[in-house]
Amino acid sequence: MNIHRSEHLYKEALDVIVGGVNSPSRSFRAVGGGAPIFMKKARGAYFWDEDGNRYIDYLAAFGPIILGHAHPAVTSAIMETAVNGVLYGTPTEKEVRFAQLLRRLIPSMEQIRFTNSGTEAVMTAIRLARAYTGRDKIIKFAGCYHGHSDLVLVAAGSGPSTLGIPDSAGIPASIAQEVITVPYNHPDALKEAIDAWGDQVAAVLVEPLVGNFGIVPPAPGFLEQVNEWAHQAGALVIYDEVITAFRFHYGGVQTLFNVEPDITALGKIIGGGLPIGAYGGKREIMEKVAPTGPMYQAGTMAGNPLSISAGMACIQTLSLPGTYERLDQMGKELCDAISMLAEKYGIPVTINRVGGAFTVYFTDQPVVDYQGAQAADGELFAQFFRLLLEEGVYLAPSKYEAWFLTTAHTDEDIQFTIRAVERAFKKMKP
Ligand code: PLP
Repeated sequence: MNIHRSEHLYKEALDVIVGGVNSPSRSFRAVGGGAPIFMKKARGAYFWDEDGNRYIDYLAAFGPIILGHAHPAVTSAIMETAVNGVLYGTPTEKEVRFAQLLRRLIPSMEQIRFTNSGTEAVMTAIRLARAYTGRDKIIKFAGCYHGHSDLVLVAAGSGPSTLGIPDSAGIPASIAQEVITVPYNHPDALKEAIDAWGDQVAAVLVEPLVGNFGIVPPAPGFLEQVNEWAHQAGALVIYDEVITAFRFHYGGVQTLFNVEPDITALGKIIGGGLPIGAYGGKREIMEKVAPTGPMYQAGTMAGNPLSISAGMACIQTLSLPGTYERLDQMGKELCDAISMLAEKYGIPVTINRVGGAFTVYFTDQPVVDYQGAQAADGELFAQFFRLLLEEGVYLAPSKYEAWFLTTAHTDEDIQFTIRAVERAFKKMKP
């Protein structure tokens, strides 16, 4: 495969953009290094790179692109909005309508505030929990990634783990001390932490279904226990649904699992591919936020007309009948075939799938926590990633990430991918 222009652009990028990328998770360091592929255009389920190679996209921009690229509904919404001005610095009707729609679909978000990213949404949700409880500590789960604000970069998932940075440099020890990290899906460890620190804990922060050390669903009863013990200790529960909301179901996974947090953070899909985040929760808690209350949070771009319009168009389109059934059916077909082929070629594989999102771990052990994900073979993943890239199938360049199906993928794309996986497995050396 000719990737000369990507290589050339990477050289130029390295000179002017640190590490050559604007987010570390785009780098190919974890899959053998070298130039990442520079994409030029994307439509539906496909990418075309600067050298004209086509790829089937299973990255979906790390989650948001659930309708595929340049979906007509989203594109029209952006264009119609743009001609009337992209940023006012005043309230707009669109923000109200979008907040109403989100509240209808995720009722625990009685009041909402839009931000520009998932990072901001989670960062502020934590500040709000601290403001509401008057406590400082948070409990989080090992390997869960909640954006790049100081407090949550302690034992964070996919991006930092891929790069082998368990804790980022530049985070004061005094801040790290406020974070207690326990393993996901291990209620005993959570109980221990609550018993030891409970009266100082502002919130237990959790991805209700993990997307950041691959796809890892909660064990039955785990989320109920998080709620029960957090509340007994007088702490709040924050769900980080930045990946999960509207990915598996028309709403948050909280409605799917029937467990409600006190505060929810959203991002990714709700922006239809434009920058967005949102946090919200019980009215009594949200009333702490300025200008109603004493907790400050703001944003020049927050709730901007473009992001809101794109998000609204995306969420409305997802309501079409059969959307989630179709994603699930394609996910099942692909995963069944990958499992079967792995067995045929003697490749150790564990697949965790929920609907149209899944992770292929190169291990024969079940993966229920971060330790399990860490134990998956990164070398084998790198081989797999490179071979599929050659075949025109684009995965996230990390063993800790998920494959995301979109409504733009077709049955032919699935069959093409299965044939590519077979050729890759044939060449792989476990
Ligand atoms: N929370 C989760 C669960 C995420 O997966 C991410 C990003 O991957 C974030 C928060 C941060 O969102 P953003 O990259 O929009 O700041």
